[in-house]
Amino acid sequence: MSRPERFEMLVLGSGEGGKFLAWHMAKSGHRTAVVERKLIGGSCPNTNCLPSKNEIWSAKVADLVHHADRFGMVTGPVATDVKRVLARKRDMVDGLIAMHLDQYKASGAELIMGTGRFIAPKTVEVSLNNGGTRVLTGDRVALNLGTYATIPDIPGLAAAKPLTNVEALELDRLPDHLVVIGGGYVGLELAQAYRRFGSRVTIVEAGPQLAGREDPDVAAAILEMLRDEGIAVHLGAKVLGVQGRSGETVSLQLHTPLVDQTIEGSDILVAAGRAPNTAGIGLNLAGVALDPRGYVAVNDRLETSAPDVWAIGECAGSPQFTHVSFDDFRIVRDNLAGGDRTTRNRLVPYCMFTDPPLARVGLSEAEARHQGIAVRIAKLPIVAVLRSRTISETRGFMKALVEADSERILGFTMFGADAGEVVAVVQTAMLAGMPYTGLRDAIITHPTMAEGLVPLFANAPAR
Ligand SMILES: Cc1cc2nc3c(=O)[nH]c(=O)nc-3n(C[C@H](O)[C@H](O)[C@H](O)COP(=O)(O)OP(=O)(O)OC[C@H]3O[C@@H](n4cnc5c(N)ncnc54)[C@H](O)[C@@H]3O)c2cc1C
Repeated sequence: MSRPERFEMLVLGSGEGGKFLAWHMAKSGHRTAVVERKLIGGSCPNTNCLPSKNEIWSAKVADLVHHADRFGMVTGPVATDVKRVLARKRDMVDGLIAMHLDQYKASGAELIMGTGRFIAPKTVEVSLNNGGTRVLTGDRVALNLGTYATIPDIPGLAAAKPLTNVEALELDRLPDHLVVIGGGYVGLELAQAYRRFGSRVTIVEAGPQLAGREDPDVAAAILEMLRDEGIAVHLGAKVLGVQGRSGETVSLQLHTPLVDQTIEGSDILVAAGRAPNTAGIGLNLAGVALDPRGYVAVNDRLETSAPDVWAIGECAGSPQFTHVSFDDFRIVRDNLAGGDRTTRNRLVPYCMFTDPPLARVGLSEAEARHQGIAVRIAKLPIVAVLRSRTISETRGFMKALVEADSERILGFTMFGADAGEVVAVVQTAMLAGMPYTGLRDAIITHPTMAEGLVPLFANAPAR
């Protein structure tokens, strides 16, 4: 073994939390290195959130143009130029990579491009992308390894070489008929986008509803939206086998509660779960224990079983969002500085960027029931929010949960235009411990979607 190069902070994987930690530590004067095998800045800017939202925005434009006459616009024939959709996305990603490289330079953290694996506690051997190896040790080490899309163990599926989100967002052609396996947020966002670009789309979901963690009324509204756009959806559908090759022709045998059938398609997108990038990288040699699902086992301070080794983001089993990985960074940063910051009681909002989007913070009705928490429920159709009429986006509803015997807001769900922005208003009120009457009685700008919070909370049943 060559003599290890010593760093005060060594980060393996340059995801959201890892890169912010590296930049912070380097700027604070600590000798810092980040090892990244491919994605400068991690998966969010390269293959996940931002590329998907970029292409989803192109799909929104496609939808607006297709329905331009509704808005009084006269257009000629409309077609999707997938190569230009892809080029716009790639331009954005290139810009983001340049932005990240600037940050590395400005902070002084060294970015080492290669694949790392532990060969001893706090010691990583890096197979450099441009050849050769380096051995690095860190006084402190952070793991920010992320996850990858799993391919379910279905006969013929792996051999069909299905797309995952990574390949789907690099397509330079329009699938004739895209079959999406998985009705979670990744599958639904891309299904709708490709439908709007002009593909036939079929969604196959094993569970009884789409968006499995949401309340049934939310899932039903999403289903209706997708079907209205011409997407075929099979629920409770087990894929028994797959023949053919994605990109050419594929056929899938489905078993559903109603009927067994075969569907023919041109491409398969698998969006049916993720697994951590923790296998085969010597974590056992580093003394880092994994949980039964293969995620790095951490306590609520994000410490692993190995002294001075921390884990951040999805590989640590944190909720799978960029904003959570960022918060994990803040927890590790503060704990490294002697603080005691934990993952306990985090209020984690999220948004599924379908059109309209679905956003939630806090409890759903089902979760409240499951936890035995009595709530008052307020609901408001989006059509009652007058902003929605000005933009002809009247689909959806808002739903709020207020504690039965107090004025505390326990949850908010919105399926409607600008839901990702409106949810932040309710989240802020929840963080401030504001009673729901604070929002009910607020003066909110007219006409905005957030204005709907006033009549929504006015609908909360009295105690
Ligand atoms: C299609 C899609 C859309 C999404 N959209 C959203 C969204 O809109 N909003 C949202 O909040 N979240 C979204 N997510 C989730 C989000 O992308 C992640 O939660 C987020 O990027 C945080 O990831 P992370 O910090 O855990 O790790 P990552 O960003 O995945 O970083 C891990 C890094 O570690 C590197 N790595 C792994 N092993 C090694 C090794 N041995 N050596 C060197 N490098 C290694 C990987 O190459 C990778 O760059 C989406 C996910 C998908 C799949």
